[in-house]
Amino acid sequence: MEYEAVIGLETHVQLKTKSKMWCGCANEFGASPNTNVCPVCLGLPGVLPVANEEALRLTTLTGLLLNCTIPRRAKFDRKNYFYPDMPKNYQLTQYDQPSTSTGWVDFEHQGGISRVRITRAHLEEDVGKNSHFDRNSGVDFNRAGVPLMEIVSEPDIDGPDMACAYLNALKDILVYGGVSDCDMEKGMVRCDVNVSVRPKGTRGLGAKIEIKNMNSFSGVRKALEYEIPRQIAVVQAGGKLIQSTRRWEDTTGITEEMRTKEDAHDYRYFAEPDLMPFEPTEAWLAEVSRCVVEIPLARKQRFMRDYQLPAPDAQAFVWDRPLGDYYEAAVASAKNPKALANWVINNLRAKLTESGSALDQLKFPPAALVELVDLVDSGKISGRIAQDVFAEMFSTGSNPGRIVEIKGLAQVSDSGAIETFCDQAIAANPGPVADFLAGKEAALNFLKGQVMKLSKGKANPALVGEVLTRKIKG
Ligand code: ADP
Ligand code: MG
Ligand code: ZN
Repeated sequence: MEYEAVIGLETHVQLKTKSKMWCGCANEFGASPNTNVCPVCLGLPGVLPVANEEALRLTTLTGLLLNCTIPRRAKFDRKNYFYPDMPKNYQLTQYDQPSTSTGWVDFEHQGGISRVRITRAHLEEDVGKNSHFDRNSGVDFNRAGVPLMEIVSEPDIDGPDMACAYLNALKDILVYGGVSDCDMEKGMVRCDVNVSVRPKGTRGLGAKIEIKNMNSFSGVRKALEYEIPRQIAVVQAGGKLIQSTRRWEDTTGITEEMRTKEDAHDYRYFAEPDLMPFEPTEAWLAEVSRCVVEIPLARKQRFMRDYQLPAPDAQAFVWDRPLGDYYEAAVASAKNPKALANWVINNLRAKLTESGSALDQLKFPPAALVELVDLVDSGKISGRIAQDVFAEMFSTGSNPGRIVEIKGLAQVSDSGAIETFCDQAIAANPGPVADFLAGKEAALNFLKGQVMKLSKGKANPALVGEVLTRKIKG
């Protein structure tokens, strides 16, 4: 029998706040161990948590970006467990009344749009970091109490590719929304992967196996590429899978069993008595709604639809958001949106990189670039000359029409002048002329090049081709 994989992801994301979740300590990566700590995040007796409103705001914003329902009441619960990196011996999380519930994410996958439903996004706190040395171990509590959001997906994912496409889409949305920097290197995104298998085409769910704490998308892919065939092999051999938790070993490339359902944690959740439930007001929600941005996929689709751009151009404007905003500012008055996109993506971006400057330092307004594109489009100047005009605009900020006028760069479409250049080129190159007569089309390009050179790039190339052909072939 053929089997298929069923995958649900629990994605933990560190929120982009200045301070930690319950205290004023800095939420900062890379500080010396135990320098961003205080009695609250060290879990000393008698301290009281104060909820970080910005973290609540970012979680609600995430809910809105993921099409989630926002409940009118959320609360925090204690999840009890004893482990050295958790100084309070419980983690505050949202158990049965999370800040957001049921939504979805749409993303590109296998040439179409796929959807993964979101169960919830809730707020919790990160734990410290254990380090093991030769003879002892240490705990750095700088990360303890950093706002951590958990986004739980429904088991809608069918394999490693879709898992990575979903994760990338999620990450792009969160970065766009300013919710998290999602810096993988800094451990800002970590994933628990839940996977089961079932006979292909059936709807039921098999025993769920959870792979803990993956800290890279490539790790997620590799773990699934290992785990799915492993599970299929077990059931195909007549074995039975049991609900369990496994650990991914990056060095060996395999997953190992940590515990089964029988010895699962009993977290004894109970409502945090030191924090009031959070009940967002209409005004507060309206304020958060104002921060909802267009998500990357919607932006891409809009650029393709409104400006008739091909997918790679639209994608470039999604990846480089300021560049896309610049394009939008310019395109309003453009006659040829595609040609303008080429100029922005290729020439403008290259010049910015080369000169190490930013868009807001440009010396010319967006309309000037549109004018330059129009000059090329209408045949007033050649593409070659346009490069020079653009370089001049870039360094001086002069208007392209004026540059063309002052430097006499307008394309020569005057046939008298072109005839003269063609005659010169024919006289000076009897070999290529003979080749062209003998049927070698490439020889014409060579001759065209000679005429362009004689005209200093100003001759209208189409016209040059016509005149040369007429003169040689008669
Ligand atoms: P738990 O209570 O153990 O955390 P949940 O039901 O909350 O389990 O699910 C956690 C994650 O596991 C979710 O992302 C969910 O989509 C996924 N999941 C649940 N059941 C399965 C299954 N049988 N196969 C694959 N993923 C599953
Ligand atoms: Mg869980
Ligand atoms: Zn603190």
